[in-house]
Amino acid sequence: MITSPEGTNDLLPSAASSWIAFKAKALEVFSRCGYLPIETPIIERTNLFMRGIGEATDIVSKEMYTAISSENLRRWIEDEEPPKQKSRLSLRPEGTAGVVRAIVQHDLVPPGAAPVKFVYAGPMFRAERPQKDRYRQFNQLGIECLGSDSPTIDAEAIAMLAGFIDNIGLPSGNIDILINSIGCDTCRPSYRDALQAFLFESRDSLCETCNTRAEINPLRAFDCKQEECRKVMASAPRVTDHLCPACREHFEDVKSLLDESGVRYTEDPSLVRGLDYYTRTVFEVQATEGMGAQNALGGGGRYDKLAEEIGGRSTPGFGFALGYERFASAMEVAGIAFTEPSGIDVFIACACEEARRPAFRLAQELRAKGISADIDHQGKSLKAQLKLANKLNASLALFLGPDELEGEYATIRDMRTHEELTIPSNEVVSKLARKFE
Ligand code: AMP
Repeated sequence: MITSPEGTNDLLPSAASSWIAFKAKALEVFSRCGYLPIETPIIERTNLFMRGIGEATDIVSKEMYTAISSENLRRWIEDEEPPKQKSRLSLRPEGTAGVVRAIVQHDLVPPGAAPVKFVYAGPMFRAERPQKDRYRQFNQLGIECLGSDSPTIDAEAIAMLAGFIDNIGLPSGNIDILINSIGCDTCRPSYRDALQAFLFESRDSLCETCNTRAEINPLRAFDCKQEECRKVMASAPRVTDHLCPACREHFEDVKSLLDESGVRYTEDPSLVRGLDYYTRTVFEVQATEGMGAQNALGGGGRYDKLAEEIGGRSTPGFGFALGYERFASAMEVAGIAFTEPSGIDVFIACACEEARRPAFRLAQELRAKGISADIDHQGKSLKAQLKLANKLNASLALFLGPDELEGEYATIRDMRTHEELTIPSNEVVSKLARKFE
């Protein structure tokens, strides 16, 4: 048996239905703030992620799946020369870089235009060590808003997310929204220097990875899970003490707008998030119960330099992404279902062989009228067919047997009340169409 690759999941019908319901609910809630759907390719040029996310990040340096065609692979093996940088493609590890690339490429935010707001959903790929709620292929739903650096965009998006979480039924007590500001080009370099100096001084108490981080990406030392490093980082300089006046004002505005919207959040000066492109606001939604280390349900922030970084004109942006599988786990912990189990409208049961063709035709006619209908395809007994109707959660069972064929009528049973009635054959479709309208 060939099984699915490690770290991937089959979304079987119940989980696939939940994923569809999750996306539909998000579209409904986010469209009230003007967000429109966008779909971008699952593969992008590798250098988009290198430039956009940053070569020093774990995602780009360790976790990206980079694809080459079998033709290029053959040439590589034969010529011992790697394919040209330009021809390398990678499976997207996140959605922001692709959406921003599309916005820049199609010039969707010309100077002076109102901000564009997009929502996307789909699979992302990261070569991680698989464990529960950490996969190599997982689904994200995200938004990106480009064209405004106003704190109202940040607050609107975070409040919209809180509204969505409420709407899908996850109790507000089961989540925590952490927020921070990591400054801009003006204030971050001096903070980075101060943090780096602190990390160098604390070298002996930090793990090897944090010592490497100190050299390349000092802010990432806040993400270390090692107890010893966490202790050291608790007394590290805080980014919020180094914000320039413009960033401080922006952050204060975001927080007061959230306060006015009644969104509960916690300020966390150690929240930096792993990607290079963030500026100013960063935030994360964490589950407070039962999720262990994989408790980040989603997160995002402002990225005012990203469009420029990938070759566009300077365009401020804000976005977030939610992990569907993590949300599904948080819903499970809270004992809440995404969707009610649904059933079919009519199951047509045959009491004799001669009824099977008329049953097939009738099912087609009902489906054409928008009624969900099913029949037995395995020559089951009448009793077994009724069992199947129950399993399919049918509202009605429609019987066709020798008497019905002879008398040109159908017997219909309400599967809940068990009441029965007969309808002339030529009125079945119209009567049922009216009932299920
Ligand atoms: P990130 O793009 O890393 O900020 O991730 C955003 C969200 O996607 C996280 O909060 C998780 O919910 C989810 N996520 C990220 N990586 C994985 C993964 N390997 N497996 C499952 N979900 C993930």
